[in-house]
Amino acid sequence: MLEIQNIQMVDLHNQYLKIKQEVDAGMAEVITSGAFVNGPPVKAFAKNLASYLDVKHVTPCANGTDALQIALMALGLKPGDEVITVSFTFVATVEVIALLGLKPVFVDLDPNTFNLDVAQLEAAITSHTKCILPVHLYGQAANMEAIMEIAHKHNLYVVEDNAQAIGSDVTFSNGKSFKTGTIGHIGCTSFYPSKNLGCYGDGGALFTNDDELANKIKLVANHGQIKKYTYETIGVNSRLDSLQAVVLNAKLPHLDTYIKARQKAATYYDQALGNHPNIQIPSRATWSSHVFHQYTIKVNGNRDALKIALKERGIPSMVYYPTPLHIGKPYKAYGYKLGDLPITEQLCQQVISLPMHTELEEEQLKYITDNVLELV
Ligand SMILES: *Cc1c(COP(=O)(O)O)cnc(C)c1O
Repeated sequence: MLEIQNIQMVDLHNQYLKIKQEVDAGMAEVITSGAFVNGPPVKAFAKNLASYLDVKHVTPCANGTDALQIALMALGLKPGDEVITVSFTFVATVEVIALLGLKPVFVDLDPNTFNLDVAQLEAAITSHTKCILPVHLYGQAANMEAIMEIAHKHNLYVVEDNAQAIGSDVTFSNGKSFKTGTIGHIGCTSFYPSKNLGCYGDGGALFTNDDELANKIKLVANHGQIKKYTYETIGVNSRLDSLQAVVLNAKLPHLDTYIKARQKAATYYDQALGNHPNIQIPSRATWSSHVFHQYTIKVNGNRDALKIALKERGIPSMVYYPTPLHIGKPYKAYGYKLGDLPITEQLCQQVISLPMHTELEEEQLKYITDNVLELV
């Protein structure tokens, strides 16, 4: 009963207890050494992550939002350039486009995977289009092979928002496999605590296989400074701190185990909920593994009433995302209106994410699914 009363959307405390010694010792070392910024743990983490992802360059930064902004700055995009993305994402994806004076162009979603619908991509390309920014939503990759093909054909950059899918594998039709975030020109991720690879504060990183882009990324992330007090370009200040790198170095070797624990919970959910006529369980893309940052179902019925009823029974849930960004107040100027992206708009009303983390017990999963089935 105690476990059931304690169901959390994300359980970081119990995960911490398993790596406590390493984290505590590493943090004490950083504090003693005084190397808080760009210390040895940060350099080690960049190397460790590059090797895990099998990518040439990893540049850590302060958070996932910064990673996206730095990526677009490093590509040298100019005000008025168009970036094609989705409206069904965390606001950061669209915010950084707008912030840089670029124009977000929205494409609707594939109704099965809830990722960018590649069938609608080419129609959105204009002479101003410079970049495609797919989001690997909930832990599963957008159709990167199709996106890269279209990008090559039209000479466009691709920046992957990989904040939710780190560790996911994409397989191309020639059988080659890649980690998400390493396929486009630049991949971006977030180490926000609740992400699949999260630290104990803010953190982020950019990945690329392109040496020249890697240099630009490092330049932009560090005030555009090419050597001390010599500035090559306008930059930002965006750093991962050493204390956060300690946590990430402790967690990275467990990332695949964490992913397996999430996939196991997802399989339980699938089996329990998969046959209900009013529930659409997450579909699996043929080209991508799913690392289940979220386990998100689509319900045919009153989603908000379900959320409240679950809460009354001690079951937390979240709605990612309740409002489509293209009709949100800050983005009105781009001229979109209700009805422009029907799948996006429908999902905002019908999706609900159930508790998903590495520490879920079968007893808790049974309690959650029994109640969902009763209430939906
Ligand atoms: C979390 C997230 C971000 C932003 O990351 P922060 O570290 O919070 O800045 C960007 N895009 C997506 C899809 C996210 O889920």
